[in-house]
This record gives sequence, structure tokens and C-alpha cells, in this order.
Amino acid sequence: MEDKEKEKWLLAGKIGKEARELGISLAKPGTSLLSIARTIENKITEAGGRPSFPPNLSVNQVAAHYTPKFNDTTTLKVGDILKVDVGASIDGFLSDTAATVVVGGEENVLVKATREALEDAIKIVNPGIRINEISQVIEKRIRSYSLSPIVNLGGHGLKRYEIHEGDFIPNATTNSSKILRSEGAIAIEPFATTGGGYVIDSSDVQILMFNGGKAPRSKLGRDILDFIKMEYHTLPFAKRWIMEKFGPFSELEIKNLVLSGALYEFNVLKEKDNGIVAQFEHTILFDKGEVTVTTL
Ligand code: MN
Ligand code: MN
Repeated sequence: MEDKEKEKWLLAGKIGKEARELGISLAKPGTSLLSIARTIENKITEAGGRPSFPPNLSVNQVAAHYTPKFNDTTTLKVGDILKVDVGASIDGFLSDTAATVVVGGEENVLVKATREALEDAIKIVNPGIRINEISQVIEKRIRSYSLSPIVNLGGHGLKRYEIHEGDFIPNATTNSSKILRSEGAIAIEPFATTGGGYVIDSSDVQILMFNGGKAPRSKLGRDILDFIKMEYHTLPFAKRWIMEKFGPFSELEIKNLVLSGALYEFNVLKEKDNGIVAQFEHTILFDKGEVTVTTL
């Protein structure tokens, strides 16, 4: 990897880590999710980056893909389990990192188990390791606390302007003998739950991504799509960002762009048994045999 490229991966990691820590520090009873998201977004921009994706602020049974909606009024309550999942993009070189906090309280066993599962995985991760070895240590640690790993979520490869690419790193043992990439970036992200360990799509969608296709018929549709391509490339963006720029009526146009295939929707993911969910995540860079956790 060229030095210039490596510097961008590392800077994206540093900004992502700072954004994650800021988000966790703001998670107090009575604070609105919208204010936390905006503060994180401003911090990333002021540091010279762009969000890799909208800050995911998922609470309790919601595992992932929730970012505050337009005019969101949700506030945090004592005892809420908040996942702060954020990342920065530097010229398309990305970070993706998460932590979980008990709002107004101390770390509980669910959060501890998930944090330790990521620490275990980081200890053994190496270029070219069998992916299943990572899955095994994650599952073992989580089950040692009589909790369940979420089996249909996991780590992934990252590439320039592609947040999910190539390798999938399950959070539970599989029969796969696949080998992890030996160059480039990956994210490892254990999820643990008090439920059975499976997430399902909910009908709510707050995050979308450009998906290609032909130009829409309406002027507003074309303007929105041009803006998305220019501002976010192929990275996920928040419905709220478009509605703040083009007005609340643009929500209907966004739906049209989904129906025409121009945009891809990320459904909010919930644990199927309504189990409470925790998540931790780091981005890891492999370069000529060297392993760097960029978000540590
Ligand atoms: Mn993430
Ligand atoms: Mn991820």
C-alpha cells in the first residue's frame, strides 16, 4: 500500500475513534439522539473528514441502522443501552467503529461480554487467518456469559468508498474454511444479545445508499440524485440529510427513487426475540504483514 493511502486510512481511523468517544460521552439521560448525531457529524467534518455513513444510534432491542429521523425527538432514558456506531471518510478511505454504553449507569454483563469478545478477536487477528478462528473466539466469549452472539451480523471488508466489501466475519462458528484477506482493511464487530441471536428487518428506514440506475423523470428526483452522487458517492447517507437540504416533501421523492432502483434502503434491524443488543467494533488495516487497529 502506498504511504499516501495508508495515511488516509489511519486518519479516517483516528477521526472515527474520536467521534465514537464523543458520542459515548454525550449519552446522558434526557439528551436527544438528534443532538448527539449532529454533534458527531460536525466533529467529523471539522476534523477534515466526512461521515463514512450516518451515525448509527441504536437503542436497546434495535441492533443497527437507526439514525435519527427528520425532526427526531427521541431522548435517552436511564438504563437505555445505546450503541454508537460511526466512521469517517478521508477521500473515500474509511473507518467503522462502535461502542455501547449503559445510559446513566455502569457497564453491565451484556456490554462487558461484547467488549471482551472484540478484545479477544483483536488479539488473534492476522492477515490470512482462517475467518472461522475469529468467529470462534467471539462466540466463545459471549456464550461464556450465557448470552447469544447475533449470528446474522458480523465484520466485513472495507474498500475505498465501499463500507461493506468482500470478506464477511460471522459472530458465531461456521463450517467455512475461508481465509481472511492479507492486505487492506476489515472491520470486526461482535454483537451480543439477551435474546436468541438473530436480527430481522423492521419497516423503518432512515439510511439509504446510491444504487445506480437511470435518471429519474422529475426535476426534484434528478436534483436529489445528483446531490447524493456528488456528496456521498457510494456511501450510505441519512434520509434526514436529504430532507434538511431539499425540504420535508423530498421524502416522497426518496421513496420514488427507491422504487425505481436508484437508491438502496437499509432497514432498521431489531433482535427477533426483543432481546437487548450490545455491539463493539474496530477497523483493522493490514499492510505488508503489519496489523494496525486504526480506531483504537
Ligand atoms: Mn459499524
Ligand atoms: Mn461495520
